[in-house]
Order: sequence, then C-alpha cells, then structure tokens
Amino acid sequence: MRKKIVAGNWKMNTLLKDGMELAQAVEKLTSEKSNQALVIIAPPFTHLSKVRELIDHVKLSAQNCASEASGAYTGEVSPEMLVSAGAEYVILGHSERRSYYKEENELLNKKVKLALSKRLKPIYCCGEVLEERESGRLFDVVRAQLEVGLKDLSEQEIDQVVIAYEPVWAIGTGVVASPDQAQEMHKFIRDLLGELFSKQVAEHMSILYGGSCKPSNAEELFANPDVDGGLIGGASLVAEDFMAIVNAF
Ligand code: PEP
Repeated sequence: MRKKIVAGNWKMNTLLKDGMELAQAVEKLTSEKSNQALVIIAPPFTHLSKVRELIDHVKLSAQNCASEASGAYTGEVSPEMLVSAGAEYVILGHSERRSYYKEENELLNKKVKLALSKRLKPIYCCGEVLEERESGRLFDVVRAQLEVGLKDLSEQEIDQVVIAYEPVWAIGTGVVASPDQAQEMHKFIRDLLGELFSKQVAEHMSILYGGSCKPSNAEELFANPDVDGGLIGGASLVAEDFMAIVNAF
C-alpha cells in the first residue's frame, strides 16, 4: 500500500504566534481522528523549532533548503539545520522557487541529494505552466523536471522521496485540474518512474496533487488511482479546511 499524504505549504504566511496556533489546531484535529493520511505541515523556517514542540501526530516539513552543506552562504539554511530544528521533510522545486528564484532542475537535483544525505525527505514538485499545457509540451516539461531533478538517486534514496504534481496554472488561481487531467499526469509520472528506476519504485511512490485543492474538490481528486494525496497551499492556512481535505480520504 502506498502512503496517503496531505501536506500543507504555508508559504510566507503567519507570524510566529499565529503559526503556533495553527499548528496546535492541526495537531488537535489530527489527534482526535484516526486519519487515512499522513499529515504534514510546512511552516516558514522561523517557526520550525517552536512548531515541532507542539506537534506529535503531525509531521514537520521545511519549504526549501540550501544546496550546500555549510559555510559562507549568507541567508541560506542547510538540510542539517532543518533536521536539528525537527523537520523530517523539505519541499523542493516548488513553482514559486522555480520562477521567482530561478531554481533550475540541476540545482534542485543538488538540493535533493544533499537533503537525502542528511536524512531529510524531499517533497519534490513538478508541473507545467499554462502555455506548456496548451502547446502540448506538458509531458516533456514534467519528464525533464523528474529526469534531471531526481538524477542519480539510488533505489534506497528515491524511496524516501515524495512527488507533488502541481500544474502552475492551478496554483493559487482557484482553477483546479479536473480529476481526469490529474490522473493522466499522475499515471504518466508513475510510468516514468518505472522507466527511470523500477516498477517497484513506481508502485511505492506517493504522488500528491497540488493546485487549488479545497474541501469541495479533494474527494474527487483523491478518488483517482494514481493520486495519493495533496500538497495544499491556501486551504492549509485554515485548520478546519485543511483537515476537511485530510478527511476526504
Ligand atoms: C501550492 O502552492 O503548493 C499550492 C498547491 O497552492 P494552492 O493550494 O493555494 O493552489
């Protein structure tokens, strides 16, 4: 059985006090119900160690990490620092990092490998922009993101990775992919993993959907055979909405 996962990406939202309250609310709701899915939250760096003290049933993720292990890299946060603050996962390759901070697949491959070497599990994001979908290049784009971003990982390493398919045109826009569009790309990703790694890796990989996922559409998205959960942005900032998505399983 593949792991079902719902992860909340808080992005650059919440001051420390609000973030702690949100984490506490998610922890409480998670602990009250036996969930089908693993619940992960990804607060800003500044909140990680405080939030870690408040959660038990919920796992902690960072939203990014450095591509270097330590040293003179002002403003960067290393995977090892994140682990020391209590993080178990790190989101890498989010479309906002790719577009605003020009993070390319090669750099992301370096980050993925470094994170794994420090026992931090990457939630590796991929997805096409609207123009790429409309011109029919969506599969080539996602293939390159996975081929290069996950290059040279051993079977043991790839087993620690979670993939999030996030069509960029659906992120924060209110326009959600249809269940068929999501399933089509998730199946493509799973088949590609079979080609790049092995059938076993492909079968074992949790592939999350992200992009305007809400309580009202989560159930039909998660009903697809290759959709193993969600990476949630906006709706993860309200504990009840986030948990309604978790409960869609
Ligand atoms: C995201 O940024 O990862 C995301 C899925 O955002 P939203 O749910 O707000 O579209």
